[in-house]
Amino acid sequence: MSRDPIRRQVGRPRFWERYALDQLSNAEWEALCDGCGKCCLNKLEDEDTGEIALTCVSCRLFDDESCRCSQYDIRKQFVPECVQLSPERMDEVSYWLPQTCAYRLLHEGKQLFHWHPLISGNPETVHEAGVSARGITVPEFEVDEEDWEDHIIEEPT
Ligand code: SF4
Ligand code: SF4
Repeated sequence: MSRDPIRRQVGRPRFWERYALDQLSNAEWEALCDGCGKCCLNKLEDEDTGEIALTCVSCRLFDDESCRCSQYDIRKQFVPECVQLSPERMDEVSYWLPQTCAYRLLHEGKQLFHWHPLISGNPETVHEAGVSARGITVPEFEVDEEDWEDHIIEEPT
């Protein structure tokens, strides 16, 4: 089993089932991320309909192999527009988060999937289930923004 870069052994037992997002500690909040990496893919939003299209064009800091941000702690220095998720912002941002994102699921009153590392105890299961961005991305510095439309994909779910 690969080492989980996210600290999961934190917080109260099965906190994700028992507490609202705004009742979580910082460590519990961080542990909720399933590591799918899909929030690091660029999206296109239709100005008229508000519809969101996902592309396989990744943020310049995204590492396709590890499926992680390569500079997570200092990412804002390079990508100031990177959105910091928080309980207060969920109403505003959840509509563009991936359908399987743990924050979105809990915000919508749904449950985590069996492949979530908090449930499976294994950080690889999100990739084995085929719901992550690992191995499917093209870095944004290789694709002109006007060509992103040619890279629209269905969300892996
Ligand atoms: S989409 Fe959600 S669960 Fe997946 S990496 Fe982003 S924040 Fe984590
Ligand atoms: S800066 Fe890092 S966390 Fe933010 S979108 Fe880019 S790769 Fe993802």
